[in-house]
Amino acid sequence: GGTIGILGGGQLGRMMAMSAAQLGYRCIAYAPEGDTVAEQVCGDVFANKWDDTAALAAFAAQCDVVTWEFENVPVATAQAMPEGRIFPHPRALETAQDRLSEKRFVEGLGGTAAAHACVDGRADLDRAVERLGVPGILKTRRDGYDGKGQWRITSARDIEGLNLPDLPLIYEAFVEFEAEFSVILVRGQDGAIRFWDSTRNTHDDGILATSALPAGQPIADQVAPARDLARQVADALDYVGVLTLEFFATAAGPVFNEMAPRVHNSGHWSIEGAATSQFENHIRAVAGLPLGDTDTVAKSVTMTNIIGADIRDAYAQLDTADTHLHDYGKAEVRAGRKMGHVTRIVR
Ligand code: ATP
Ligand code: MG
Ligand code: MG
Repeated sequence: GGTIGILGGGQLGRMMAMSAAQLGYRCIAYAPEGDTVAEQVCGDVFANKWDDTAALAAFAAQCDVVTWEFENVPVATAQAMPEGRIFPHPRALETAQDRLSEKRFVEGLGGTAAAHACVDGRADLDRAVERLGVPGILKTRRDGYDGKGQWRITSARDIEGLNLPDLPLIYEAFVEFEAEFSVILVRGQDGAIRFWDSTRNTHDDGILATSALPAGQPIADQVAPARDLARQVADALDYVGVLTLEFFATAAGPVFNEMAPRVHNSGHWSIEGAATSQFENHIRAVAGLPLGDTDTVAKSVTMTNIIGADIRDAYAQLDTADTHLHDYGKAEVRAGRKMGHVTRIVR
């Protein structure tokens, strides 16, 4: 046992803390949003700002080891934690927080990303659309999640009407994919890597809706090269913990979309569907414990997100055998907000 500090106070941290408790660790959270669902499962929640040096020092002093559950934690905040006692290393945040730098990093390792161009203003956008064509997606380089900060461009007219934010942007050609999947791995402090099975992921309005196993074709054939790339990414970052890479399965093979240096929504099925969940293995990795088996323990698994709806509407599904409801404990329902998920297992 001991104390694990979690930077961020959302549902990912909450599920991490639940796994940590089982292993005898106490978690405390650092969550400036004031909108946290960590309270119920964390021993203490620091609601201070990300750049509050004194509060960060007080937080670190209480922790044996620190990790994060939120990929937009400022790099300086992660770097303020004691060297060698924060996992993954903050360099993983630095690489993954910028859609341009993560694509360059992955391309440097031999991966394929969507054709893209850096956009800093109207003239860049005109050039990018001329070079890469439509349809495409304009995205903020930083801070986006759940499809926020994205504009789909289907014609030159879409650009004229756009109120361009004064932020670094990236224009990506639309990838004609057959399916989407993610590679989720855990890497231990000794460098050992284990992969979970890759689910078929479907999205609604840019938000993950479902993850299912078996993933079927063409995903099944594309998992091996995608894993090779993910392994290289993890090794290059000397990564410790759970790492996710999202891919498009295309006629030409896997195309990298983005990485998340953390546990991932498309891995929630592993709580009931795998020998060891992504949350438990993340805690094991950062705590320096041996990793658990990642094998799938079911014939099929379907994870469905509950988005912008009252969690109580899902209670009726509990009547179905081997169906598991996870309520994130969010006080208020909002459109597009992830309130919980349901996992259905067939053994
Ligand atoms: P999250 O971090 O929650 O996964 P995000 O806001 O970072 O989401 P992306 O993963 O970039 O968003 O995009 C969300 C979804 O939009 C993708 O899973 C995919 O369905 C679609 N999408 C994004 N970029 C492209 C692209 N270049 N071509 C085709 N579809 C895309
Ligand atoms: Mg993302
Ligand atoms: Mg994504």
